[in-house]
Amino acid sequence: MSKIESGKVELRLEAFDFRAFLGIFENLYHEQARNKGVDYETLLAGDMPVQLVGDSLRLNQILSNLLSNAMKFTPAGGSIKLRVSRTSEDDDNVHIRFEVIDTGCGISEENYGKIFESFEQENIDVAHKYGGTGLGLAIVKNFIELMGGNVSVESVLGSGSTFTVDLPFGKVKEKGETARFSDFGQLSDPVDGYSAVDYDFKGKHILLVEDNELNREIAMELIGATGACMESAENGVQAVKAFEDSPEGYYDLILMDIQMPNMDGYEATRHIRALKRLDARTVPIFAMTANAFAEDVEKSKEAGMDAHISKPLDVHAVYKQMSEYLTLSFQLPDK
Ligand code: ADP
Repeated sequence: MSKIESGKVELRLEAFDFRAFLGIFENLYHEQARNKGVDYETLLAGDMPVQLVGDSLRLNQILSNLLSNAMKFTPAGGSIKLRVSRTSEDDDNVHIRFEVIDTGCGISEENYGKIFESFEQENIDVAHKYGGTGLGLAIVKNFIELMGGNVSVESVLGSGSTFTVDLPFGKVKEKGETARFSDFGQLSDPVDGYSAVDYDFKGKHILLVEDNELNREIAMELIGATGACMESAENGVQAVKAFEDSPEGYYDLILMDIQMPNMDGYEATRHIRALKRLDARTVPIFAMTANAFAEDVEKSKEAGMDAHISKPLDVHAVYKQMSEYLTLSFQLPDK
């Protein structure tokens, strides 16, 4: 949080495939909603540019947070919609509105401001009933403002909530034209450069080892969005202990930060790999580091890690990597 407030979070300005981006959300949340008995729909109001220029990673984090909340606070039988529309456009820029509309428990009007502050939940019952930390929306609001947009909420207690996010993006022109899409049906087709992976990691136990609270919160929410059972440790010592205390074969994957106080990721991995139990050698361990230079990759391999993912997390890359190893780990019967 302090990192965002002091302006140390960097924004990327890159062209990305907006159609593929929305397709990934559609796949992910459709599946989750179906499992929960909730209706999920992505609605496109008008046509959209196929490509946008902006920070797709942050946009992903924003929408993941809002959709995860909607999923959390909407009971079976309810519905969730992600509505996407263009509010204004000129030659170079386009403003896009994202509305996350749910029929969940709702929020009382006097708390509209409060829920966007760090560590605030609507009331103490929320923490008891739904868990969570009250940090997600504070991150969402900060990211949105950093990107030059704004967020608001409207809700009726007991009937549902609508979170509205307005964000500006740059446009990509080919031969002076902006390519557009309007048929959401196209999204189920595999799109060049992405997803057609089924990111359903339900029932998989993942241990996330990360000392930075903000990074931990984001990673827990993003990776948890795949349905995986997430557990976390704040440093290497805690990670080794969590692994030692778990029944054999319990963890399907460990995501390990490298630089941590008490015991770093390399040492923690060496400890885990040296434990005298079968899964100590087979559990996939991914290193998470800001710099993935060849020598870092080499060092993590030497410590016994299987793969490298870079921070800030590129969620598509992470899901893809996870899907490879999680399938693989399933194919390893007791040797
Ligand atoms: P967390 O979900 O970790 O508690 P958030 O910052 O994401 O933290 O949300 C803060 C609070 O806002 C929640 O605890 C809840 O009281 C309220 N809230 C957020 N989204 C919704 C929603 N879609 N429906 C009802 N209440 C919500």
